[in-house]
Amino acid sequence: MTVLRSGLATDIGRARQSNEDRAAASDTLFAVADGMGGARGGEVAARMAIETLQAAYERNPTIAGLREAFVAANGAIWEQSVRVDGLRGMGTTLTAAGLSVGADGRDVIGLANVGDSRAYLMSGGAVRQITADHSLAEERVRHGEMTEAEAEVHPHRHILTRALGVAPEVDIDLWELHLHTGDRLLLCSDGLTNEVNVEQIGQVLRSEHDPRKAARALVDRANAHGGSDNVTVVVVDILVGEAEPARSSSVARVSVDKAGATRLEEPGRDPAVDRPGPAGPRTPPLAPEDATTTTITAVHRGLAPTAGGSVADAGEELFVAAAPVAIQTVPPPEYREPERERLPPVRETRRERRQRLGVPRRITVRVIFFFLLILAVPAGAVAVVRWYALDNWYVAIDHGNLAVYQGRPGGFLGFQPKLLDRTDVTTKEVLAFRLRDLRQTVTEPSLKAAERYIANLHREFLAQQSSTPLTRL
Ligand code: MN
Repeated sequence: MTVLRSGLATDIGRARQSNEDRAAASDTLFAVADGMGGARGGEVAARMAIETLQAAYERNPTIAGLREAFVAANGAIWEQSVRVDGLRGMGTTLTAAGLSVGADGRDVIGLANVGDSRAYLMSGGAVRQITADHSLAEERVRHGEMTEAEAEVHPHRHILTRALGVAPEVDIDLWELHLHTGDRLLLCSDGLTNEVNVEQIGQVLRSEHDPRKAARALVDRANAHGGSDNVTVVVVDILVGEAEPARSSSVARVSVDKAGATRLEEPGRDPAVDRPGPAGPRTPPLAPEDATTTTITAVHRGLAPTAGGSVADAGEELFVAAAPVAIQTVPPPEYREPERERLPPVRETRRERRQRLGVPRRITVRVIFFFLLILAVPAGAVAVVRWYALDNWYVAIDHGNLAVYQGRPGGFLGFQPKLLDRTDVTTKEVLAFRLRDLRQTVTEPSLKAAERYIANLHREFLAQQSSTPLTRL
C-alpha cells in the first residue's frame, strides 16, 4: 500500500501579466504545465494539457497509461493550435507523476516529462534532479558540446527542444520510481529553478514538513529572488512507501513497449541518472563512500538481455546495474540575470520571431491592399462631394442678362459655380413677375433644360408684347 500527501502552490510571480502555469494534485496524479504562446495560447495549452492528462490517466492509471495521456494531450493541443488562428504555435511543458500498480502487483510511481519543468526526488535528505530539461543548452551539454557551467549562463538556455502541442508527435521521457516512506517528490516549473538553486530547494524541503507549506515556501523564495516568471510547485510526500526496505529508493528510466509493458532503457542513455557530476569548487563529486541512503538501481522486468546479447525471458523481476551510485545534488547554478523574455523558436509565431530578430516587416499583398483602401476612402469622398456640387444647373441674372450656371448657388465645399452660358436675353425681355423667381434662382436638371427655360421666358414675353394691343382694343 502506498499513501501519498501533497501540496500545491502557484503564483504569477513579480514580472508577468498572467499566470500561464497550470498544475494538478489529486490523490494519485500530480502535474505541472508551463504554457507558452502568444495571446492566450500559453494558458490554453497548459490547461488542455492538465485536463487531458487527468481524463486519460483516469482511464488507464499505469505507466503506459501515463504515456498515452501525454500523447493524447499533445494531440489535443496540436489540433487546437492548427484549427484556431489565435492559438497557432501554442505549446506547453508537462511534468507528471502518477501512482500505479506495477507488473509485480506492487505500487510504483510513473514519472513523465516533456520540456523544462522538472522533477526532483528527496530521499534520505539528499535532493537530486530526475528529469533532464529539453532545452537547447541542456542538449549541448548532453552531447559534450558545452559544459554545465556554460549552459547555466548561455543565452539560449531557455529555448526548448521539446514541448507538448507544437508538433503532431512528441517524444516523452519516462521513469519508474520505487519509493520509500519519507521520500519526497517535487514537481516545479522553471519559474522556481531559475530563481532558486537546488541547495536552497533542499533547505526548504528538509525544514518544512507540511507539503502545502513547503510548496508555498518555495514559491515565496522564488518571488523573493525576483519572481521573473510564473512559479508553480507540487510537493508529494510518500507517507507510506512500498519499496523493499532492504533496498534503496530506485529511479529507472523506462520505455513502454507495444504491449504496454515498461522496459528499462539502455544504461547510459539517461543523462539524468548517470551523468557524471560536473567538476567545480562548489560541487565536488561525491566519493562512493559518501553515498548515504539513496542509490540508483536500474529495474528490469520480464525480458532481460543475456550474455550473448540476445533476449531471454527472465520470468521475474531482475535488478541489473545495481552498483550503488553516489547521489549528487545538481550543481548550484551561478547567479544568472533573470531573463526578461524567453527565446523559444519552437513556440513563437512568425511575427514574434521577426520582431525578435529585428527583421523588417515584409510588404505583402495584404499590406498593399490596406494602403489602397486607406487612399480610396478620401478619394471616394471627394468624388461624391464633387458630383453633388456640380450635378446641378441654375438660371440667374448676370449684369442684366439671363445666364446659366453649373453648380450650387454660392458654391458647395469649395466647388464654386461656373458660368456656362450668358444669353442675349436681358431682364427687360422677360415678364416682370418672372424676375422674382430668377432672383431666388431657378434650378434645372441640365444645361439644355436651363436654356429651354430661358427661351420659354423670352417667348412668353414676346407673346405678351404682341397680344397687348389686342387686349387694349
Ligand atoms: Mn516558465
